Amino acid sequence: MKKILTIGRYFKSKFGQRVRKIPISLQGFTCPNIDGSVAKGGCIYCRNESFSPSIVKISNLNTSPVEMNFKITQNPLLEDQVAQLKEQFKWHSNFHKDKFAVRKYMVYFQSYTNTYAPFETLKRLYQEALALPNVVGMSIGTRVDCVEDRVLDLLGDYVKKGKEIWLEYGIQSVYDETLKATNRGHSTQGMQELFEKTRQRGIKVCAHLIYGLPKETPEMMLHSLQTVLKWGIDGLKIHPLYVVSGTYLEKLYHSKNYTPIELTDYADLIVKSLQMIPSDVVIQRVSAGAHDETLLAPKWCFDKNIQMRYLREKLKAAGIEY
Ligand code: SF4
Repeated sequence: MKKILTIGRYFKSKFGQRVRKIPISLQGFTCPNIDGSVAKGGCIYCRNESFSPSIVKISNLNTSPVEMNFKITQNPLLEDQVAQLKEQFKWHSNFHKDKFAVRKYMVYFQSYTNTYAPFETLKRLYQEALALPNVVGMSIGTRVDCVEDRVLDLLGDYVKKGKEIWLEYGIQSVYDETLKATNRGHSTQGMQELFEKTRQRGIKVCAHLIYGLPKETPEMMLHSLQTVLKWGIDGLKIHPLYVVSGTYLEKLYHSKNYTPIELTDYADLIVKSLQMIPSDVVIQRVSAGAHDETLLAPKWCFDKNIQMRYLREKLKAAGIEY
């Protein structure tokens, strides 16, 4: 039986105990693909709160008088952002402490693009995050076109001080035609170099891939995986593409120009993917969904527990323990 190095197993072996990622979503953060800097409208499947519904409910973050980007010279939201970071961390860490007896945490800057802000803002927020009680490190979700070298240097300094630092890059596909069709606002150019620059500083790279993107075949999806493995990654998240309301993908779906991936096909791809994963690559996720009325299709993405049970069964039958 091949035992997958899940994120839970990885943390346990590294820190000798369970570590939980604490999702953080801060007012004012956005994405250059939403604010019009690189494209308009965002990725065709993006409705950001569907990726992190629980966090958005904690603080009222839906509106912001100022948006983060690289150009603003002053950030009047900074103290509010620090307060939100502390508030969300406290709520989630208490929950995991009380319910699951978890005592160590990673701060996970999850929503939107968390390196897309003035350098001084990022520096302050990262420092505040690392100073929170029982925090062993940070995981930062971002895009490949939004990471400045000085931010890599800053994060590399935290690594030198013993912190666990991950950058989570949204790759989704290594096919430029797919990135264009999904309005990602960037191509694959420079991705490999960025991975190398990140890892040279001891920062871990987690690549995000999506299976079921428009017009992609199973062979293309597996080729994306093979490519990021060749570039060099420390971790991986794979998730199925699902249609939520209020997105351009919804229009494609209703006009029959997009057919969501079937669960059986997705499971087959996950089995093949995990068969080719080296034993030292940390698998952070292979499932996803939206547990509310925004989910339009496929319906099997409604319940992640049922989805994971099915995937685990298929993996077990293929000799893989997840
Ligand atoms: S990069 Fe992320 S936040 Fe930005 S539009 Fe795409 S999915 Fe949304």
